[in-house]
Amino acid sequence: MPSAEQGFRSGTEIRSRNHAASRTEATYRPGRLSTVGGMKGSAAVAGGGIAGLCAAAYLRARGWDVTVFERADRLPATGTALGMWPSAVRALDEIGVGGRVRSLGVEQHHAEIRRPDGRVVAGGDTRGAAYLLSRPALLAALAEVVPGDATVFGTPAPAIADLSAADVIIGADGLRSPTRRQLFGAGHEPRYVGRTAWRGWVPGHRDGVVETWDTDALFGLTPRDGGLINWFASVRTAPGNDEGLAGVRSRFGSWHPEIREVLAAATAETTLQHDLYESPPLPSYVRDNVALVGDAAHAMAPNLGHGACEAIVDGVTLGRLLVAGPDVRTALRRYDRRRRMPTRLLVRASRLAADVAMAGRGRRSRDRVLRTLTALT
Ligand SMILES: Cc1cc2nc3c(=O)[nH]c(=O)nc-3n(C[C@H](O)[C@H](O)[C@H](O)COP(=O)(O)OP(=O)(O)OC[C@H]3O[C@@H](n4cnc5c(N)ncnc54)[C@H](O)[C@@H]3O)c2cc1C
Repeated sequence: MPSAEQGFRSGTEIRSRNHAASRTEATYRPGRLSTVGGMKGSAAVAGGGIAGLCAAAYLRARGWDVTVFERADRLPATGTALGMWPSAVRALDEIGVGGRVRSLGVEQHHAEIRRPDGRVVAGGDTRGAAYLLSRPALLAALAEVVPGDATVFGTPAPAIADLSAADVIIGADGLRSPTRRQLFGAGHEPRYVGRTAWRGWVPGHRDGVVETWDTDALFGLTPRDGGLINWFASVRTAPGNDEGLAGVRSRFGSWHPEIREVLAAATAETTLQHDLYESPPLPSYVRDNVALVGDAAHAMAPNLGHGACEAIVDGVTLGRLLVAGPDVRTALRRYDRRRRMPTRLLVRASRLAADVAMAGRGRRSRDRVLRTLTALT
């Protein structure tokens, strides 16, 4: 068993250690931790997405040996915008990335809800609420604070049993998390929420966020970095819908002019379509010395725009608790206590927000309530 101070240093070293590790090992054996000046040890992170890089950045900056296994060959070059809420930006401050997000991102000044014909249902000043930033820009900013030798690209994470030399294993491998499956079996796979989503970007500039709601369908427009406008759309449909850009144009082509203009400028290359899933409740986000963070623990519908924000808060919170010690198991128990309930509530609230936005019955009452609230604030 190597000491925690030695930890993991390179993909080659890890691969050779994995070779030596028994594949049938049933329990994970933590290495020796140092608690001088904050707990230090070694961490193996499965997945170099948002949650994984946040945890890695926090731990590396406090003297941990961290290896991030990322199956993709490199960071993504393209992608759509994410809304970064204040709790996420504060967490990013703890790893030195908050300033980058504030300067690269576009502050959300104003938000509106409209009907398909363009009439405004509700709207208001949202200054200070969120920064909109593309996923590639966020990941690039995170990668800047995770030293280059910490991430092994093009390498799927080894099985948990093959990572027994790490003091802690962090499952940050997203919606279809192999780490979650190893911990809790196949009975906790994400479930389809009954909707597909399109996302894309077109050249241009806009100030405010607009969501346009109709029965079983919604369309959103937001500013973002890079001189681009971000758009998204969602409809209720059976899983496996792959209509692509043609589908979104046929479903939303008669909505108000701002939507028509964006769809006219959209291209197949800048349009993504994904069915939407959410995680079922997990019995725990931790087991032994393994912790789940981000979508691996709590994938949620995108309607409150919180998935990536919670992934950031998870990664930083886990890092902070590990450094606080006194040992890995206590830190992981505290992480589970702190993060499981609020994120479960957000999974439910996100589904509810989608139901409200895409409601059929009760639409008029909903709009009246929204108008009243807007008038009062
Ligand atoms: C339509 C839509 C809109 C959204 N809008 C917002 C928004 O506005 N604001 C917001 O906060 N959130 C938003 N989200 C949610 C957000 O995208 C996710 O919650 C967030 O990306 C989760 O981060 P993560 O790091 O947990 O997972 P991911 O970003 O999925 O990262 C997981 C990483 O693990 C890697 N990986 C997977 N398996 C393995 C393996 N076996 N070995 C090694 N690596 C592996 C993957 O390649 C990936 O890099 C939206 C989601 C959708 C679908």
